[in-house]
Parts: sequence; C-alpha cells; structure tokens
Amino acid sequence: MSINAEEISVTASVREIAKRKRSEEAMQEALNSSRTQLKELADTHLAQMEEGRQIAESALRESEEKYRLLLDGIQNYAIFMMDPQGQILSWNAGAERIKGYSADQIIGRNFACFFPPEDIQLGRPEEVLRITAARGRHEEQGMRVRQDGSRFLANLVFTALHDSAGNLRGFSEFSHDLSESKASEVRYRGLLEAAPDAMVVVNVAGEIVLLNVQAEKQFGYSRHELIGQKVKNIIPEGFAERIIADGTRSAAEALAQQIGTGIELIGRRKDGSQFPIELMLSPLDSSEGILVTAAIRDISVRKAAETHLAQMEGRYRGLLEAAPDAMVVVNVAGEIVLLNVRAEKEFGYSRNELIGQKVKNIIPEGFAERIIADGARSAAEALAQQIGTGIELSGRRKNGSEFPIELMLSPLQSAEGILVTAAIRDISVRQKSDEHLARTVGELKRSNDELQQFAYVSSHDLQEPLRMVASYTQLLAKRYKGQLDSDADEFIAFAVDGCNRMQGLIQDLLAYSRAGTNGKVFSEVSAEDALQQALTNLRITIEQSGAVVSHDALPALRTDETQLTQVFQNLIGNAIKYRSAQAPRVHVSATNSVGNEWIFSVSDNGLGIAPQYFERIFVLFQRLHGRNEFEGTGIGLAICKKVLERLGGRIWVESQPEKGSTFYFALPERDEKS
Ligand code: ADP
Repeated sequence: MSINAEEISVTASVREIAKRKRSEEAMQEALNSSRTQLKELADTHLAQMEEGRQIAESALRESEEKYRLLLDGIQNYAIFMMDPQGQILSWNAGAERIKGYSADQIIGRNFACFFPPEDIQLGRPEEVLRITAARGRHEEQGMRVRQDGSRFLANLVFTALHDSAGNLRGFSEFSHDLSESKASEVRYRGLLEAAPDAMVVVNVAGEIVLLNVQAEKQFGYSRHELIGQKVKNIIPEGFAERIIADGTRSAAEALAQQIGTGIELIGRRKDGSQFPIELMLSPLDSSEGILVTAAIRDISVRKAAETHLAQMEGRYRGLLEAAPDAMVVVNVAGEIVLLNVRAEKEFGYSRNELIGQKVKNIIPEGFAERIIADGARSAAEALAQQIGTGIELSGRRKNGSEFPIELMLSPLQSAEGILVTAAIRDISVRQKSDEHLARTVGELKRSNDELQQFAYVSSHDLQEPLRMVASYTQLLAKRYKGQLDSDADEFIAFAVDGCNRMQGLIQDLLAYSRAGTNGKVFSEVSAEDALQQALTNLRITIEQSGAVVSHDALPALRTDETQLTQVFQNLIGNAIKYRSAQAPRVHVSATNSVGNEWIFSVSDNGLGIAPQYFERIFVLFQRLHGRNEFEGTGIGLAICKKVLERLGGRIWVESQPEKGSTFYFALPERDEKS
C-alpha cells in the first residue's frame, strides 16, 4: 500500500480530529453560554424569590403587628395563646392589666398559675384544656388569682387552635374581670359605696364578687383580700347556707325565703374577732346569674344595749314590783320600756301589750309632753322641771275608762340615755275623800257660823233682861237691907251675886263670839304698845296684888292690835290671878329664832298647872279652880286660842305645879300684802 493511502487516512484522521475538536469547542462554548444563561436565570429567579420573600415577610410582620396592636388595644380583655400543654405563648396589654403579669414574666409559664390553689389541686387547669380540646370552645365563670395573690371573678372563653391538617396546635383564652368595667356595675358600685351599711355581693357559689368600703372597714380586710373569697370566711354560719341551692330547692328558691328579712348572725373580722350583725338580703339578676346583695349591719351596740336592758330589767324589776304604786319606765321618745304588775292591773293591759307602746296610750295628756324634748329645751331640762313633783293627770284603761292619777317622775341614767321612772297612783279614792272632807269642812263652817251667830245674839239679847234683874235686885238690896229678916238679906245678896256672875259670863261669851267674827285689821303693830295697853287695862289688879311685870324688847309685826292686847291682858291677868303665896312676878319676852314667826312668852311664878291639864285649860268653860278660890268663867284662854288661830298663830303652855307657868304664843311674820 501506498503512502498515499496512509497519508489519506492520516489526513482524514487529522481532519476528523480537527472536526471533533471544533465540535467539542463549540459544545464547550454552548455549555458555557448555557451555564451563564442558566446562572443568570437562576440569579434572576433567586433575586425575584428573595424579593418575594421579603415582601411576604414584611406583609406578615405588618399583619402580625396589626394583630398585636389590635389585641393590645383590647384593654378590657386578657387575651393570650398557649400551646397544647398550656404554656403561654403570647400576652396582651389587657392580660397584663387584669392579671398583673408582664409579658416577660409570664410567657413560657403554664396558665395553671392563674387558678386558685384549691382548683389546681382539683386538676381544674388540665380539665379546662381537656374540655376545650374536645369541644373546640369552652366558656366558664370562675375565680382567678392575680400576680399579687388577690382574686377576682372572671368570665373566660377558651378556644382550641388547629393547623390546616387538623392537628391541635394550642389554645387561646379570652377573659375579663367581672367585678369591673361594665357601666352598670360601675353604677352599681356607686350605689354600694353610698350605702351606710357594709355591703357584699355574693354569687350563688357563695363567693364574694363585689363589696364596698364599709365592708372592708367592718371586716378589716382590703378589697382585694375579699374578692373571690368564700363569704363563709367573714360570715362563718348561716349566710352561704341560705343562698346555696341544695337538693330540694334551687338557689332562687332558697333566696326567696330569705329576702328582706333581718337575719341576725355573727361576723368575723380578719383578726378573728367576732361581732353580731344583721343581714338584709336582696337578689340581683345579672348577666352572670343570680347574685345576692347583702347589707350587713354591725349590731353590737344594739345587742349590748339589749343585754344591758335585760340586766337592768333584772335589777329593777324586783324594785319595781316591790313598789306600792303602778310604775312604768319610759324612754325619751315616750315609749314604755318597763312596767310592773300593778301597772298592768291598773291599766288593764298585759305587759306585752304595753312594752314598746307610746305612753300616750295610757296617759293621753301631759306625760309624754313633759319628757319629750322640744325645740327650746332638751329632754333632760324638760325632765328636771318635773322631777319629784306630784302631777295630777288622767289615766286611760284598756277598756277606755279614765281615772285620776298622780305622777311622780324620777330620771334614770342608762346606757340608752335618760329613762324616766313614773310612779302612778290612782287618786280616785283620795279625790273622793278630799271632796268628802271639803264638804264636811263646809258644813262644819256653816254650823259653826250659825252657832257663833246664836251665841252672839243670845248673849247680846240676854244682857238686856239681865241688866233689869240686876238693877232691881241691887235696888232691893239697897232699900230693904236690915228691914226684912236676916234670911231675906242673905237671899238678896245671893241674887245680886248671881246677877253679877251672869253679867260677867255673858260679857265674856260676847267677847268670845266677837273674837271669831271681828274682821281682821292687820297693821304694823308694836307689840310693846299692845303690852302697855294691856298693863294699863290691868292697872288696878297690878296695884292691888303688888305684882311686878317686866318685859324684854318686843318686836313690831303686822297683826290685829286690839286682839294682841286682848291676849296679853288675858295671860297677864291669869298670871296675877293664879299666884302663889309669893308676890307675883310676870315676865314677857319674844324671839324669832325659829322659822318665820315670833314666839312670845308670858311666864309667872304662880301656882303652876299639872301636865294633864295643858290641853284642857284652852277649852271653853274649862277651869281648874273652883269659884270659891278664884273668880272666873273659864273663857279667857279659849278666847286667846281662838284669837291666835285667827291671826295664823297658836298657843300652848309649859308649867310645873308650884313652880309657875309659861304661856307661849306664836304669830307669823307677814309681809305687806298679807
Ligand atoms: P278663868 O281664868 O276665867 O278661869 P281661863 O280660861 O283664863 O279662865 O283659865 C282657865 C283655867 O286655867 C283657870 O281656871 C286656871 O285654873 C288655869 N290657869 C290659867 N292661867 C293660869 C296660870 N297663869 N297659872 C295657873 N293656872 C292658870
């Protein structure tokens, strides 16, 4: 073979190789360019993707922000999300405000921390999640605990959150504090605070949902300590039982039985001390079901007063019952607080009918007015004016009949203020006897006047014929003395003597009856002048007896001068007449050491008088001595007694037989008008 062939084949191979090389280069070039193209394409795509992601991301952020802002804007609701186990994932501003935790403090913790410990023990948080997971949504009302430990009643809505594949991804909680934020409740709270009593609002579970400042004060807790607590903590018995439904009745029924009635129970303060309270319940239909508003009044003061009254009653009852009169004790409002059996009898009521009644029912007029204060004076003053004085009023029995009574009031300081004890005496008998007495006195006076008139008229009219008898017997005595026989002389002497005595008697009788009828002429009288006048009238007697009459300084006083002279004259005359063997000595004196009267004395050294006659000698015609011993009619001292009594005075004697007598008489000191 030829080179040519070889050459041809080499040439062909070289060509082939060059061709292959060229195609390889072209391929490489194409590859390179397509790689570049691809890279460019990829880069563009990537850039586009990045841009899209960024746009998507910012959109997402924006919507998340909007969502967060939206949630935070809801201040009245706590809103948060948690994972299927209850771990908290998000937290809004409302949640922070209501529950007290900041987002930093709470995110990552379990929502069980919002439950009260007793609920945690019962497994309530897990139960809530279980129920929500099963039902998709769960709503409840319950107590929740804030970060500071305080409790509040909350309304809560739980929702289960699922992904698109339907797997449970977590939960959300929407909740709000029931004790706040509703306009009606704000108003209601205003009302609560305005109430004078402590007020708590309790739900049918017996938990406190609302309370006022007075309740805080009365029980010594702060609001946060009480909200959510069982009401049993402050009212251990009798309240919760009343509002909680039991097997046989609903809460509404249980409540209906209690509404409005004042229930007396015991309250317990934070410090453990107890005090008596009175409860008034009223139901409140709210969006959260029936709530019960309880007005709680501290009745320790009233209770103490009641015990005090009971004690006092015990103490005074014995006293009251021992009293002989009907007794009632009345307060300043005029209500009867106590009475005794006699009061029941007198007025015809039973005790229970009278206690608490107005005293006006039994003493219609004049009593209540006396003890009730009016504008111008206090009860105490009103009373002070009446105490002890016997006030005559009318009592009224249950049957309507009235009878005259006399009241004696006395005040009684007690814990309840001033009480008035009134002793009530039925004076119908006394009034009758008073009337009887007045009648008798009237009759007596009339008959006495008649008698005086008779004595005066008869003694006056007797004088005339007596004077005739006397003058003719005296004429007989004068003309025929010694001319008849001695018997006749004696008889005539007897007749003359009898006439003289009769004249004396009649004159004294006239003086006696005049002592009663002469009008009182009171003037300023010097007792000394009256005495001098009496001594002048007695001049002959004094001279004949050799009597010595002395006297102290005597006062001037308003009286009847003639009658005072008459008294002196009678007493001094007697002092001289009833003298002993010694020369008569008479002394007159006066003192006003006791009270407002003058006491005069006339003392002598005469015969004296035995004590048993001290009264009798002042009676008309009573004499201790016979006519043979001493002349007299037995009228002188009776006249003195009568005169002095008319002048408002009196007379008496002190004496010892053989030692002498002192006659005393008293006369009142009068002022100008009397
Ligand atoms: P009369 O002196 O007229 O008997 P009185 O009424 O004056 O009546 O006195 C009554 C009686 O009292 C007298 O009878 C006398 O017995 C007694 N009597 C009165 N004054 C005295 C006196 N001073 N001393 C003793 N007896 C007296």
